[in-house]
Amino acid sequence: MSEEEKTAPSNFIRNIIQEDLDSGKHQSIQTRFPPEPNGYLHIGHAKSIVLNFGVAEDFNGLCNLRFDDTNPEKEEDEYVRAIMEDVRWLGYEWSKLCHASDYFQQLYDYAVELIKQGKAYVDSLSAEQIREYRGTLTEPGRESPDRNRSIEENLDLFARMRAGEFADGQYVLRAKIDMASPNINLRDPALYRIKKAFHQRTGDEWPIYPMYDYTHCISDAIEGITHSLCTLEFEDHRPLYDWVLDQVNTPCHPQQIEFARLQLKYTITSKRKLNQLVSEGHVEDWDDPRMPTISGMRRRGYPPAAIRDFCERIGVTKKDSFIEMAVLENSVREDLNEHAQRVMGVLRPLKVTIENYPEGQVEELTAQNHPQKPEMGTRVIPFSKTIYIERDDFMEDAPKKFFRLSVGREVRLRYAYFVTCTDFIKDENGEVIELICTYDPETKGGNAPDGRKVKGTIHWVSAEHAEDATINLYDRLFTHPNPAGTEDFTEHLNPESLTVLENCKLEPSLAHAEKDTHYQFERTGYFIRDSRSEGLVFNRTATLRDTWAKIDKQNQ
Ligand code: ATP
Ligand code: MG
Repeated sequence: MSEEEKTAPSNFIRNIIQEDLDSGKHQSIQTRFPPEPNGYLHIGHAKSIVLNFGVAEDFNGLCNLRFDDTNPEKEEDEYVRAIMEDVRWLGYEWSKLCHASDYFQQLYDYAVELIKQGKAYVDSLSAEQIREYRGTLTEPGRESPDRNRSIEENLDLFARMRAGEFADGQYVLRAKIDMASPNINLRDPALYRIKKAFHQRTGDEWPIYPMYDYTHCISDAIEGITHSLCTLEFEDHRPLYDWVLDQVNTPCHPQQIEFARLQLKYTITSKRKLNQLVSEGHVEDWDDPRMPTISGMRRRGYPPAAIRDFCERIGVTKKDSFIEMAVLENSVREDLNEHAQRVMGVLRPLKVTIENYPEGQVEELTAQNHPQKPEMGTRVIPFSKTIYIERDDFMEDAPKKFFRLSVGREVRLRYAYFVTCTDFIKDENGEVIELICTYDPETKGGNAPDGRKVKGTIHWVSAEHAEDATINLYDRLFTHPNPAGTEDFTEHLNPESLTVLENCKLEPSLAHAEKDTHYQFERTGYFIRDSRSEGLVFNRTATLRDTWAKIDKQNQ
């Protein structure tokens, strides 16, 4: 990381790492980001990615991408590819690409080691019985009748589980820890289950699959992870993580450290629930720009740097809390304000005829691509007798403080001239369909030689040169600040989360807009060309200001 780049603010995890390096506990650090490939990554995962890859980068360590692929039935190759694309798009490259399934043989061998030590046994209780025997928070569990099976018998049964001799659910391998432990995770947790399922990487080789808690700590140890960062719900699993590693002879014993999950208001951060939105057709797909997925945010036009900035700003703590959507949107606005190219586009067009402008004349006006950045250059925009302006920029009965157009009022057309409205035309329904204006040829470039001032400046597009476009405007996906906390989150979907505007009029330079260029349409927001559409379709990334601040205040 270069000197000028700001380093991430310190947090308790960075402090632990710094201490471990200072004390010589570790010479260098190794982290990992371990997604299960059962869906697309979301903004919550971004927090974990920025943390894991970010600390590795800042402390000159390494970070692996590890697919936690031990649930063959829910996992798909599509998700694997999407996850790799998303991590890279966020700006990170893993030192090693790993899979928990790479370790199936080692995991099996360690399980045999546990059995030989008398620390694991094959149980024939059904899943339901195991649950019953487990006890509750206030009552200890009961021991399974199989708990004291001999080591020989356990070895034989486990080998036969592996050989595929038994049906799904007939046996499980359990750790032999303590059925009376106050921590339920230590009441003889399952280590292996029988599942005759095809695995996307190992095919039909394995009829048994290791459980998450058993797999995760050993995978960490095999990879030489020094700090295994995970979310708070795993705090109660840490004793099991440590127990497994204390029993088997792994190359090292990583330290698990928990931090609070990211929860964002008005959206959902759970792959399972996001999957439901896709499969039930509430959204177009995983990359619907309203989705909090990384692919959705990319299609919406959120720059990766803005997402990284957001993840650093919210910090890493041990306390669960909800973050306002505005925090994310402000990171996006800050980035785009600096980098987006300015252009003009009219979302809801109203035709304007400039009566005294010569018929057939076209002027090429010069416009800056960024008001504060001359290095971003200029472009040419055509001006002619007929233009489009925004419907909202005209009012028939305008109050005094309306500084835009109404009969008798004068405004500045951005980069062009002062115009005064002299009349308007209505259709048979009484709707205003055209304005008649005059222009002052002396005001070219936006200033009057007589020093006369106008208060309003509006954007416009020359009618004959305009590009027709479709524009998608987005609002929050949910109307409830915590949809996941309600009985049925799909009941709180915002019916107005998407507005499609047809026949918008854009300046001609946008005809060949690249699909990864960010634009500010002056006065109307930040936009990006939709990556999935054929024609000229733009998505609004964000409005120029936070339109939700007021609404959130009312809800507090
Ligand atoms: P989901 O419920 O959405 O599937 P998960 O935790 O099961 O989430 P994994 O694929 O197992 O998803 O997550 C990979 C990593 O990302 C884990 O280390 C997990 O702790 C972290 N992670 C997932 N969701 C969040 C979140 N909301 N905030 C921070 N980290 C998260
Ligand atoms: Mg999971």
